[in-house]
Amino acid sequence: MAARAERHHVEMAEYEPGLGETASLRTRMKRPRGYDPEPMDLPPLFQSPPRPLAMVRWLVTKFMWPQSLLWIAISVVIYQLFTPGLERFASLGLGDIGLLWLRNTVLMLIVIGGQHWWLHMRRSQGTEFKYEERWLAKNRKTFLFNDQTRDNMFYTLVSGGGIAAVYEAIMFRLYATESIPQLSSLWAIGAMTFAVFWIEGVHFYANHRLLHVDPLYRWAHALHHRNVNTGPWSGISMHPLEHLLYLSLPFVFLVIPGSPFIVTFCLVYLMISPSPSHSGFDRFKFVGADFHGGDYFHNLHHRYFEVNYGMLLLPLDKWFGTFHDGSQEAHEQMKDRRRSTADLA
Ligand SMILES: [Zn+2]
Ligand SMILES: [Zn+2]
Repeated sequence: MAARAERHHVEMAEYEPGLGETASLRTRMKRPRGYDPEPMDLPPLFQSPPRPLAMVRWLVTKFMWPQSLLWIAISVVIYQLFTPGLERFASLGLGDIGLLWLRNTVLMLIVIGGQHWWLHMRRSQGTEFKYEERWLAKNRKTFLFNDQTRDNMFYTLVSGGGIAAVYEAIMFRLYATESIPQLSSLWAIGAMTFAVFWIEGVHFYANHRLLHVDPLYRWAHALHHRNVNTGPWSGISMHPLEHLLYLSLPFVFLVIPGSPFIVTFCLVYLMISPSPSHSGFDRFKFVGADFHGGDYFHNLHHRYFEVNYGMLLLPLDKWFGTFHDGSQEAHEQMKDRRRSTADLA
């Protein structure tokens, strides 16, 4: 059953050969017309031989700057200025959850909606750096309201923002009643904030891999994968069952010491960081410069489905044999795996 679901999806996600392509080229990697980045490298620490100094440079210039630092900065502002005090959560009420939900909605309308407006409505850089030349789907029955953007906004704001609010309120209540271990030193909170990126690397790989197994795939994750050509609002456009898993990252701090800020950071990061990675654009042009935008690694997951389950930060896909770096060689390996799965089914 799982193999059939995967094959069905792959047929949907693959593209028709372009005009002029001959039968002999059918096994070549079929690319939609659009921006085609160079194949990706693993982070330097995981190459052989490992290059620790190059890894530090990669972490600062490629990983932290600009997006990861921006997620931390936004979380500090959200926590300090727009999150009710902890004492309020000792006696948890629906009103407190509602406030967090409202805060999440406004945050996502600004950050995700801003990217959608700049890239897909104003079309400020046209199709420059866009992985696919076509735009988001309209008049398509597979989407709620027959519209990909409205459908994606609905799942993101109602289910995503709502479940994130409930999880944050539960954790705040546990901190307010001193029921779970809490870090007090600013240095420890800073170090743990940085560690969240790695913890999430493992957490995301594990829950995403699970979601690709039937019946979880059919029940939940297929909804996210209707988006083959993605936009900023596709990032956390997920079934509520997938939101329950995907947003559960803060619960690791039931057992390891964390802090209320770290919980807010986890959820803000989970809510808004997938928007550039699903934006459809590899780089964003802004005030005469261009910045790291989309995530080619995850874009290939949406295109070919059974590759790149994790994030580039940790080489879990490399270790488990599902890494696709965008090269023809990796594509042939993926096709071999698909053939052997089909033979077993
Ligand atoms: Zn997936
Ligand atoms: Zn995705």
